[in-house]
Amino acid sequence: KTETEFDLVSKNEVLQLYLPREKFAHKGTYGHSLIIGGGYGKVGATILASKGALNSGSGLVSAYLPRCGYIPMQTAMPEVMVQTSKSDEHITDFNFDIKATVIGIGPGLGQHKETVEAFSKFLETNTTPLVVDADALNILSNNKKLLELLPEDSVLTPHPKELERLIGEWSNDFDKLEKAKAFSGQYKCVLVIKGAHTITLYKGKGFINTSGNPGMATAGSGDVLTGVITGFIAQGYSPVIAAVFGVYLHGSAGDLAVESLGYQSLTASNIANTIGGAFIELF
Ligand code: AMP
Ligand code: MG
Repeated sequence: KTETEFDLVSKNEVLQLYLPREKFAHKGTYGHSLIIGGGYGKVGATILASKGALNSGSGLVSAYLPRCGYIPMQTAMPEVMVQTSKSDEHITDFNFDIKATVIGIGPGLGQHKETVEAFSKFLETNTTPLVVDADALNILSNNKKLLELLPEDSVLTPHPKELERLIGEWSNDFDKLEKAKAFSGQYKCVLVIKGAHTITLYKGKGFINTSGNPGMATAGSGDVLTGVITGFIAQGYSPVIAAVFGVYLHGSAGDLAVESLGYQSLTASNIANTIGGAFIELF
């Protein structure tokens, strides 16, 4: 066994990672995030992820959804361009015409047989960087061979249950970290272990986040994070820096929002809407 080196991530660390906005920038400078997911009754997850991507600075954001997602997304997010898959209720194919810098996939996706087949087929030819969350992770857990098809340095963002499906049960926290580290090494991915102190693992190194609060244990909170990390990669941050910075900013948006809302009332939409404030608080 090798020792894992851990760094605590707070404001000083992320300030050193920050890429300033250039005066002569145009929207193409900051990339194109594509959010894929949604299903009947679960379109909101993709709206939250899109907000995360847009508010964290992605130049352009598109969403690829089942047809039932078209009107809600266009209504909630006028900035987002939308294309739809064939079915009304779930994604059945990946026939979109969107030149994405990075794809955030999983929020609200579901695990319909047709969705699983389409996603598996997509992975065989896809070379666009991925942020993988929620049911996209569960699909990978149910068919571990698919993990080998992920582009190198894909970012995976499991909550504890999703992590257990990916790496198996653990006996204690040390065992969990060993298994998670082995997993991230085997599949050459950035593994974001979400929780009260989210830990990002990459190439045997660990980054322990210090922002965030229990008010963030609320529906949709993780979907916003998927969008934030996707938006950071779109802007040109490397996947591991996007994960470390994104996790910190997401937590600090939650910390800022909770000051006026309280733990009980904090919602994922509030977190997404406070990302701008969290950026400003950095300086
Ligand atoms: P998900 O379960 O996918 O919605 O993700 C939950 C998100 O909320 C993750 O980013 C977690 O790190 C964050 N979160 C959940 N519970 C807490 C907590 N007690 N303290 C801080 N952050 C939390
Ligand atoms: Mg989630």
